[in-house]
Amino acid sequence: MSIEIQNVSKSFGTFAALSDVSLTVPNGKLMAWLGPSGSGKTTLLRILGGLEFGDCGKIFFDNEDITDVPTRLRQVGFVFQNYALFGHMTVFQNVAFGLTIKSKGPSKSEIREKVMDLLQKVQLEHLAHRYPNQLSGGQSQRIALARALAVNPRFLLLDEPFGALDAQVRKELRRWIRQLHEDLGLTTIFVTHDQEEALEVADQVVIMNQGKIEQIGTPQQVYDAPATPFVYRFLGNVNVLPASINKGKIKFGRTEMVLEGHATVDHSETLAFVRPHEIEISRKTLFHSAGLEVIIQKIHSAGPIAKLSLSRLDNAEKIQAEVPRRQVDSLNLKEGESVLIRIQNARVFQDDYSI
Ligand code: ADP
Ligand code: MG
Repeated sequence: MSIEIQNVSKSFGTFAALSDVSLTVPNGKLMAWLGPSGSGKTTLLRILGGLEFGDCGKIFFDNEDITDVPTRLRQVGFVFQNYALFGHMTVFQNVAFGLTIKSKGPSKSEIREKVMDLLQKVQLEHLAHRYPNQLSGGQSQRIALARALAVNPRFLLLDEPFGALDAQVRKELRRWIRQLHEDLGLTTIFVTHDQEEALEVADQVVIMNQGKIEQIGTPQQVYDAPATPFVYRFLGNVNVLPASINKGKIKFGRTEMVLEGHATVDHSETLAFVRPHEIEISRKTLFHSAGLEVIIQKIHSAGPIAKLSLSRLDNAEKIQAEVPRRQVDSLNLKEGESVLIRIQNARVFQDDYSI
């Protein structure tokens, strides 16, 4: 089922939690809504599920206007951050819950078959007779998902489903949920404040900030071409360096490079956004005067990528660089020495530098 949100706004008192939000979730896709705490993700999700209503705007399911339809008629499967399993019921009973409350529901044997099928889908059949307090956090969330699927939802809304779990479990579960999504093909919205999680799990990512959408795109699009300074900073580490632009060339101190694709307007003073991995390091002899001279202040080389804290010689400005660990070894880089850097890619935004 495709979902369309058109011009939805929502205020609590005088506070605008959502301002004119529009987006389309394509049928069968997994879309992540990503943004910092307080950016309006849960409010928008609740409006979509019918737990809350917008002040204005419309919502369509498969082109049908359901803006005023109550939640029980929307056929939504919800999973929230905090395990909402019933503590006095077994895993089996929890998953069966949605099936047994209907007055003309399925028979006992049908329920049993359905529940066991769902437990198999989340790969936890062997836990059917356990109680929630005998499960790990990750298992609880998988059971919560099985329970959400029991009522044959038309789509799934997952609000920070792994938010309370530790890092290693989160990583495993994000791969697991991606696989489950491939198997089920159910339109799904996955809310998270964790950029790595969103980029790894989703077909499309919506980046939200202060009740507005900053950008919508595939993980690759939003990472490679952030639409705003906010997205640039939110999706990863970034150096923000003073620079000037003249005739398509960007200048950092004495060094100059061609600026591709952006900023045709000249600027005597601007800011350039440069990811740490877009910085190339060399011994002085190789670039001659074409690089920017820096001192290596610190080398963190645990793992395959080394993180270098650099300080410019001309103005002492700090720059973060990331290079393959083996390059640190092959160039024999040491803390305290000076080297040259070249900026391989920089992005300039014409107007808004706030945040
Ligand atoms: P997120 O899920 O992105 O963290 P929320 O949608 O929960 O953000 O909240 C967005 C903003 O709206 C927050 O500033 C929050 O305090 C406010 N808010 C949410 N629900 C209510 C409410 N029922 N009453 C008042 N303010 C609310
Ligand atoms: Mg929230």
